[in-house]
Amino acid sequence: MDSSSSERDAVVRIDNASVVYGETTALQLDRLYIYRGERVFVLGKSGSGKTTLARLLKGRLKPATGSVRVLDCDPASLARSTRRSIQSRIAMIDQEFFLVPRLSVIGNVLNGSLGRVKGWKSLFGGYPTAEWQKAESILREVDLEGLGNRRVDTLSGGQRQRAAIARALMQDAEIILADEPVSNLDPELAEDALELLVQCTERRHVTLVVNLHQPRLARRFATRVLGLYQGKNVFDGPPADLSETGEEFIYLGEEEIARKENSEQSAHDPSSRTMAK
Ligand code: ADP
Ligand code: MG
Repeated sequence: MDSSSSERDAVVRIDNASVVYGETTALQLDRLYIYRGERVFVLGKSGSGKTTLARLLKGRLKPATGSVRVLDCDPASLARSTRRSIQSRIAMIDQEFFLVPRLSVIGNVLNGSLGRVKGWKSLFGGYPTAEWQKAESILREVDLEGLGNRRVDTLSGGQRQRAAIARALMQDAEIILADEPVSNLDPELAEDALELLVQCTERRHVTLVVNLHQPRLARRFATRVLGLYQGKNVFDGPPADLSETGEEFIYLGEEEIARKENSEQSAHDPSSRTMAK
Protein backbone atom coordinates (compact mmCIF):
# COMPACT_ATOMS: atom_id res chain seq x y z
CA MET A 1 0.00 0.00 0.00
CA ASP A 2 1.51 3.38 -0.93
CA SER A 3 1.43 6.06 1.68
CA SER A 4 -1.22 8.21 -0.02
CA SER A 5 -3.76 5.36 -0.22
CA SER A 6 -2.99 4.37 3.37
CA GLU A 7 -3.68 7.90 4.52
CA ARG A 8 -6.99 7.87 2.67
CA ASP A 9 -8.12 4.53 4.07
CA ALA A 10 -7.28 5.24 7.69
CA VAL A 11 -10.47 4.79 9.72
CA VAL A 12 -8.65 5.65 12.96
CA ARG A 13 -6.07 8.40 13.27
CA ILE A 14 -4.57 8.98 16.67
CA ASP A 15 -1.80 11.55 16.97
CA ASN A 16 0.01 12.24 20.23
CA ALA A 17 -3.02 11.38 22.30
CA SER A 18 -3.05 10.72 26.00
CA VAL A 19 -5.77 9.75 28.43
CA VAL A 20 -5.41 10.68 32.05
CA TYR A 21 -7.50 9.52 35.01
CA GLY A 22 -6.64 11.76 37.97
CA GLU A 23 -2.92 11.14 38.51
CA THR A 24 -2.70 8.12 36.19
CA THR A 25 -1.75 8.41 32.54
CA ALA A 26 -3.65 5.39 31.27
CA LEU A 27 -2.72 5.79 27.60
CA GLN A 28 -0.06 7.66 25.66
CA LEU A 29 0.08 7.03 21.94
CA ASP A 30 2.34 8.94 19.56
CA ARG A 31 0.73 7.81 16.35
CA LEU A 32 -1.72 5.02 15.73
CA TYR A 33 -3.44 4.75 12.36
CA ILE A 34 -5.76 1.83 11.65
CA TYR A 35 -6.75 1.07 8.07
CA ARG A 36 -10.04 -0.16 6.69
CA GLY A 37 -10.38 -3.94 6.81
CA GLU A 38 -7.54 -4.52 9.27
CA ARG A 39 -8.00 -6.95 12.14
CA VAL A 40 -6.03 -5.40 14.94
CA PHE A 41 -5.60 -7.48 18.07
CA VAL A 42 -4.48 -5.50 21.11
CA LEU A 43 -2.48 -7.46 23.67
CA GLY A 44 -1.37 -6.27 27.06
CA LYS A 45 -1.61 -7.30 30.64
CA SER A 46 -4.36 -6.05 32.92
CA GLY A 47 -4.14 -2.29 33.40
CA SER A 48 -2.09 -1.69 30.24
CA GLY A 49 -4.76 0.56 28.67
CA LYS A 50 -6.73 -1.75 26.35
CA THR A 51 -10.20 -0.78 27.57
CA THR A 52 -9.17 2.86 27.66
CA LEU A 53 -8.21 2.63 23.99
CA ALA A 54 -11.59 1.07 23.09
CA ARG A 55 -13.46 3.74 25.05
CA LEU A 56 -11.42 6.45 23.37
CA LEU A 57 -12.29 5.10 19.93
CA LYS A 58 -15.97 4.80 20.83
CA GLY A 59 -15.98 8.43 21.99
CA ARG A 60 -16.71 7.60 25.62
CA LEU A 61 -13.54 9.39 26.69
CA LYS A 62 -11.91 12.59 25.59
CA PRO A 63 -8.13 12.64 25.20
CA ALA A 64 -6.30 14.95 27.62
CA THR A 65 -3.92 15.88 24.81
CA GLY A 66 -3.58 15.21 21.10
CA SER A 67 -6.07 14.28 18.46
CA VAL A 68 -8.36 11.29 17.89
CA ARG A 69 -10.24 10.92 14.61
CA VAL A 70 -12.48 7.96 13.90
CA LEU A 71 -14.21 7.78 10.50
CA ASP A 72 -13.04 11.35 9.98
CA CYS A 73 -14.84 12.62 13.09
CA ASP A 74 -13.89 13.40 16.65
CA PRO A 75 -15.96 10.65 18.31
CA ALA A 76 -16.15 12.43 21.69
CA SER A 77 -17.47 15.72 20.28
CA LEU A 78 -20.09 14.81 17.72
CA ALA A 79 -22.79 17.30 16.84
CA ARG A 80 -26.21 16.20 18.05
CA SER A 81 -27.43 15.88 14.46
CA THR A 82 -24.75 13.38 13.45
CA ARG A 83 -24.14 11.62 16.79
CA ARG A 84 -26.52 8.70 16.29
CA SER A 85 -25.47 7.87 12.75
CA ILE A 86 -21.73 8.10 13.46
CA GLN A 87 -22.00 6.23 16.75
CA SER A 88 -23.82 3.38 15.05
CA ARG A 89 -20.97 3.03 12.55
CA ILE A 90 -18.73 2.11 15.50
CA ALA A 91 -20.00 -0.96 17.37
CA MET A 92 -18.76 -2.22 20.70
CA ILE A 93 -18.89 -5.80 21.93
CA ASP A 94 -17.51 -6.45 25.36
CA GLN A 95 -17.08 -8.99 28.09
CA GLU A 96 -20.57 -8.51 29.48
CA PHE A 97 -22.10 -8.20 25.98
CA PHE A 98 -24.62 -5.59 27.27
CA LEU A 99 -27.59 -7.30 25.75
CA VAL A 100 -31.01 -6.58 27.25
CA PRO A 101 -31.56 -9.81 29.22
CA ARG A 102 -35.37 -9.74 29.31
CA LEU A 103 -35.71 -8.97 25.63
CA SER A 104 -35.82 -11.65 22.94
CA VAL A 105 -32.75 -12.45 20.87
CA ILE A 106 -34.27 -10.85 17.78
CA GLY A 107 -35.35 -7.81 19.83
CA ASN A 108 -31.74 -7.30 20.88
CA VAL A 109 -30.49 -7.76 17.33
CA LEU A 110 -33.09 -5.31 15.99
CA ASN A 111 -31.88 -2.79 18.58
CA GLY A 112 -28.72 -2.68 16.51
CA SER A 113 -30.67 -0.94 13.75
CA LEU A 114 -31.94 1.92 15.93
CA GLY A 115 -29.35 4.27 14.44
CA ARG A 116 -31.22 3.93 11.13
CA VAL A 117 -34.85 3.40 12.07
CA LYS A 118 -35.41 5.32 15.30
CA GLY A 119 -37.95 7.71 13.72
CA TRP A 120 -39.72 4.93 11.88
CA LYS A 121 -39.97 2.85 15.05
CA SER A 122 -41.33 5.65 17.22
CA LEU A 123 -43.88 6.71 14.58
CA PHE A 124 -45.16 3.27 13.66
CA GLY A 125 -44.36 1.32 16.83
CA GLY A 126 -42.20 -1.33 15.20
CA TYR A 127 -39.38 -2.11 12.84
CA PRO A 128 -39.81 -2.14 9.05
CA THR A 129 -40.15 -5.60 7.49
CA ALA A 130 -36.81 -5.22 5.74
CA GLU A 131 -35.10 -4.85 9.14
CA TRP A 132 -36.80 -8.00 10.44
CA GLN A 133 -35.66 -9.91 7.40
CA LYS A 134 -32.16 -8.62 7.79
CA ALA A 135 -32.12 -9.58 11.51
CA GLU A 136 -33.31 -13.07 10.67
CA SER A 137 -30.68 -13.51 8.01
CA ILE A 138 -27.96 -12.38 10.44
CA LEU A 139 -29.25 -14.84 13.06
CA ARG A 140 -28.80 -17.60 10.48
CA GLU A 141 -25.30 -16.35 9.75
CA VAL A 142 -24.29 -16.56 13.44
CA ASP A 143 -25.99 -19.93 13.84
CA LEU A 144 -28.83 -18.74 16.08
CA GLU A 145 -31.58 -19.60 13.65
CA GLY A 146 -34.76 -20.63 15.49
CA LEU A 147 -33.68 -18.91 18.71
CA GLY A 148 -34.94 -15.43 17.77
CA ASN A 149 -37.87 -15.54 20.17
CA ARG A 150 -35.90 -16.83 23.14
CA ARG A 151 -35.17 -14.42 25.97
CA VAL A 152 -31.49 -13.60 26.09
CA ASP A 153 -31.24 -14.60 29.75
CA THR A 154 -32.08 -18.20 28.80
CA LEU A 155 -29.12 -18.51 26.41
CA SER A 156 -25.73 -20.05 27.08
CA GLY A 157 -22.63 -17.84 27.25
CA GLY A 158 -21.57 -18.84 23.74
CA GLN A 159 -25.05 -18.11 22.34
CA ARG A 160 -25.14 -14.73 24.09
CA GLN A 161 -21.81 -13.90 22.54
CA ARG A 162 -23.20 -14.75 19.08
CA ALA A 163 -26.27 -12.59 19.76
CA ALA A 164 -23.93 -9.70 20.62
CA ILE A 165 -22.04 -10.26 17.36
CA ALA A 166 -25.38 -10.31 15.48
CA ARG A 167 -26.40 -6.98 17.02
CA ALA A 168 -23.10 -5.39 15.98
CA LEU A 169 -23.59 -6.71 12.42
CA MET A 170 -27.16 -5.37 12.39
CA GLN A 171 -25.72 -1.92 13.09
CA ASP A 172 -23.91 -2.04 9.74
CA ALA A 173 -20.93 -0.90 11.75
CA GLU A 174 -17.77 -0.08 9.83
CA ILE A 175 -15.63 -0.61 12.90
CA ILE A 176 -16.25 -3.24 15.55
CA LEU A 177 -14.45 -2.80 18.85
CA ALA A 178 -14.40 -5.96 20.93
CA ASP A 179 -13.10 -5.58 24.48
CA GLU A 180 -12.07 -8.99 25.78
CA PRO A 181 -15.12 -10.45 24.08
CA VAL A 182 -14.31 -14.07 24.91
CA SER A 183 -12.84 -13.86 28.39
CA ASN A 184 -16.01 -15.32 29.93
CA LEU A 185 -16.03 -18.33 27.61
CA ASP A 186 -14.09 -21.56 27.89
CA PRO A 187 -11.11 -21.87 25.49
CA GLU A 188 -12.85 -23.89 22.78
CA LEU A 189 -15.92 -21.65 22.69
CA ALA A 190 -13.65 -18.60 22.76
CA GLU A 191 -11.86 -19.76 19.65
CA ASP A 192 -15.15 -20.54 17.85
CA ALA A 193 -16.64 -17.15 18.77
CA LEU A 194 -13.57 -15.31 17.49
CA GLU A 195 -13.57 -17.33 14.29
CA LEU A 196 -17.20 -16.39 13.71
CA LEU A 197 -16.52 -12.73 14.45
CA VAL A 198 -13.60 -12.74 12.03
CA GLN A 199 -15.55 -14.49 9.25
CA CYS A 200 -18.61 -12.21 9.53
CA THR A 201 -16.53 -9.03 9.61
CA GLU A 202 -14.23 -10.14 6.80
CA ARG A 203 -17.26 -10.72 4.55
CA ARG A 204 -18.31 -7.12 5.12
CA HIS A 205 -14.83 -5.64 5.07
CA VAL A 206 -15.38 -4.31 8.58
CA THR A 207 -12.38 -3.10 10.58
CA LEU A 208 -11.95 -5.08 13.76
CA VAL A 209 -10.15 -4.00 16.93
CA VAL A 210 -10.07 -6.79 19.51
CA ASN A 211 -8.63 -6.51 23.00
CA LEU A 212 -7.44 -9.88 24.13
CA HIS A 213 -5.39 -11.73 26.70
CA GLN A 214 -4.36 -14.74 24.63
CA PRO A 215 -1.41 -14.21 22.22
CA ARG A 216 -2.20 -17.58 20.65
CA LEU A 217 -5.58 -16.36 19.42
CA ALA A 218 -4.10 -13.08 18.22
CA ARG A 219 -1.55 -15.08 16.21
CA ARG A 220 -4.34 -17.07 14.61
CA PHE A 221 -6.80 -14.30 13.76
CA ALA A 222 -5.06 -10.93 13.59
CA THR A 223 -3.64 -9.17 10.56
CA ARG A 224 -1.86 -6.80 12.93
CA VAL A 225 -0.93 -7.00 16.60
CA LEU A 226 -0.53 -4.07 18.94
CA GLY A 227 1.16 -4.53 22.29
CA LEU A 228 0.38 -2.11 25.07
CA TYR A 229 2.53 -1.78 28.15
CA GLN A 230 1.67 0.83 30.75
CA GLY A 231 -0.38 2.74 28.21
CA LYS A 232 2.37 2.83 25.57
CA ASN A 233 2.49 1.05 22.27
CA VAL A 234 5.48 -1.31 22.60
CA PHE A 235 4.74 -3.60 19.66
CA ASP A 236 3.05 -2.97 16.33
CA GLY A 237 3.38 -5.49 13.53
CA PRO A 238 2.04 -8.58 11.82
CA PRO A 239 1.41 -11.57 14.09
CA ALA A 240 4.28 -13.46 12.42
CA ASP A 241 6.68 -10.89 13.90
CA LEU A 242 5.44 -11.52 17.40
CA SER A 243 8.29 -13.65 18.64
CA GLU A 244 8.37 -14.96 22.15
CA THR A 245 10.58 -12.01 23.00
CA GLY A 246 7.97 -9.70 21.52
CA GLU A 247 5.40 -11.33 23.71
CA GLU A 248 7.64 -11.01 26.72
CA PHE A 249 8.18 -7.37 25.89
CA ILE A 250 4.45 -6.73 25.99
CA TYR A 251 3.90 -8.59 29.21
CA LEU A 252 7.07 -7.68 31.08
CA GLY A 253 8.21 -4.39 29.61
CA GLU A 254 11.71 -3.32 28.65
CA GLU A 255 13.02 -2.58 32.13
CA GLU A 256 11.83 -5.82 33.66
CA ILE A 257 13.35 -7.79 30.77
CA ALA A 258 16.70 -6.03 31.23
CA ARG A 259 16.54 -6.73 34.97
CA LYS A 260 15.74 -10.40 34.34
CA GLU A 261 18.56 -10.73 31.79
CA ASN A 262 21.03 -9.13 34.20
CA SER A 263 20.09 -11.43 37.03
CA GLU A 264 20.30 -14.48 34.73
CA GLN A 265 23.72 -13.36 33.55
CA SER A 266 25.03 -12.89 37.07
CA ALA A 267 23.67 -16.32 38.03
CA HIS A 268 25.94 -17.82 35.32
CA ASP A 269 28.92 -15.61 35.94
CA PRO A 270 30.70 -16.31 39.27
CA SER A 271 32.77 -13.09 39.04
CA SER A 272 29.67 -10.93 38.77
CA ARG A 273 28.20 -12.83 41.71
CA THR A 274 31.26 -11.90 43.78
CA MET A 275 30.95 -8.32 42.54
CA ALA A 276 27.33 -8.27 43.63
CA LYS A 277 28.27 -9.18 47.19
P1 ADP B 1 -6.85 -2.81 30.61
O1 ADP B 1 -8.15 -2.76 29.89
O2 ADP B 1 -5.69 -3.11 29.72
O3 ADP B 1 -6.88 -3.73 31.78
P2 ADP B 1 -7.53 -0.13 31.42
O4 ADP B 1 -7.65 0.66 30.19
O5 ADP B 1 -8.78 -0.57 32.07
O6 ADP B 1 -6.55 -1.36 31.18
O7 ADP B 1 -6.72 0.71 32.50
C1 ADP B 1 -5.54 1.43 32.21
C2 ADP B 1 -5.10 2.18 33.46
O8 ADP B 1 -6.05 3.18 33.79
C3 ADP B 1 -4.97 1.31 34.71
O9 ADP B 1 -3.89 1.81 35.46
C4 ADP B 1 -6.28 1.53 35.42
O10 ADP B 1 -6.13 1.33 36.81
C5 ADP B 1 -6.57 2.98 35.08
N1 ADP B 1 -8.03 3.25 35.02
C6 ADP B 1 -8.89 2.69 34.17
N2 ADP B 1 -10.13 3.19 34.33
C7 ADP B 1 -10.04 4.10 35.33
C8 ADP B 1 -10.97 4.98 35.97
N3 ADP B 1 -12.25 5.02 35.60
N4 ADP B 1 -10.50 5.78 36.95
C9 ADP B 1 -9.20 5.76 37.31
N5 ADP B 1 -8.28 4.98 36.74
C10 ADP B 1 -8.68 4.15 35.77
MG1 MG C 1 -9.89 -3.98 30.12
